[in-house]
Amino acid sequence: MNTSLPKKPLPSKTLVSKTLLPTSTAGSLPKPSWLAEPETLWSPWKLQGEELTSGQQDALRITLQEQQNAGIDIVSDGEQTRQHFVTTFIENLSGVDFENKKTVRIRDRYDASVPGVVGPISRRKSVFVEDAKFLRQQTDQPIKWALPGPMTMADTLYDDYYQDREKLAWEFAKALNEEAKELEAAGVDIIQFDEPAFNVFLDEVNDWGIAALERAIEGLTCETAVHICYGYGIKANTDWKKTLGAEWRHYEQTFPAIQKSNIDIISLECHNGRVPFEVLEMIRGKKVMVGAIDVATDTIETPEEVATTLREALKYVDADKLYPCTNCGMAPLSREVARGKLRALSAGAELVREELVRTKKEQEDHAA
Ligand SMILES: [Zn+2]
Repeated sequence: MNTSLPKKPLPSKTLVSKTLLPTSTAGSLPKPSWLAEPETLWSPWKLQGEELTSGQQDALRITLQEQQNAGIDIVSDGEQTRQHFVTTFIENLSGVDFENKKTVRIRDRYDASVPGVVGPISRRKSVFVEDAKFLRQQTDQPIKWALPGPMTMADTLYDDYYQDREKLAWEFAKALNEEAKELEAAGVDIIQFDEPAFNVFLDEVNDWGIAALERAIEGLTCETAVHICYGYGIKANTDWKKTLGAEWRHYEQTFPAIQKSNIDIISLECHNGRVPFEVLEMIRGKKVMVGAIDVATDTIETPEEVATTLREALKYVDADKLYPCTNCGMAPLSREVARGKLRALSAGAELVREELVRTKKEQEDHAA
């Protein structure tokens, strides 16, 4: 497997945002209650056919407006057109059987009824490209679009065909790459791959997970990100976190290889968890989306709490590479709580932005 892809030329990298500490969210945001059952993962749609399509577009407009009202700098679709961050993509691939689901253990943590791979994987058609074009029409702000990562996809189905997780992930990576190239052409500025499995199968991440991810981003000139978290704030995940001990050092195992990879941005869970901030030193040079909002609680952070996390991260991440973000997606939260958290993220980032500008000015005055 080709693990040494050529480095993308640096000059093609345009800065997505000129704002210092540009804010964004990790991915999903709550859906309106007329579109899907609120505060539920895998929530079924309440509309069908054309009504569903136009309902999803309305939800996309709303979620964009809520991000803009809160002052979020890099906006997204809030995953309003997908039922689940992995399965909605898989549904559009051939080689997958959705009729005969089987129960498998996901990320060594919880059982879920999932589709199976029964033939060669290929992308039948674009999955999110029309949605991305629609979002692009609505705003001039930088757009981030999330896709599932190949390893996490391979962990979310059963496989009677390839019977080899690495091979399966490689096929997913090829399909993801086709989708990503079309998203880039549609005007997406940052394409993010969600890889919560990177915090579970640490050896496999180093053996083939990062190589598969690099296959997924091959040839892209937009910025690329990988989101690695400890999962949504659902009970299976919060119970799992309780077993992880006083310090979570999973990132330490995978960061050396990720640091060397072609991925531009790394999105991480940092707020309220037990991740020691000094592990961020291992990816110095990369842009880091620092999770400064806890998605596993309804308590809305104060701007000062957000600022404290960002200041801590600034010890290890250069200011021009720090992107304040949420720990993970907010789909399972109420809309009101999510709105509050978006505003807290913005306000907390603004506090630190002002400090950075003030310090820089003081230094300049001192030098003059
Ligand atoms: Zn996440």
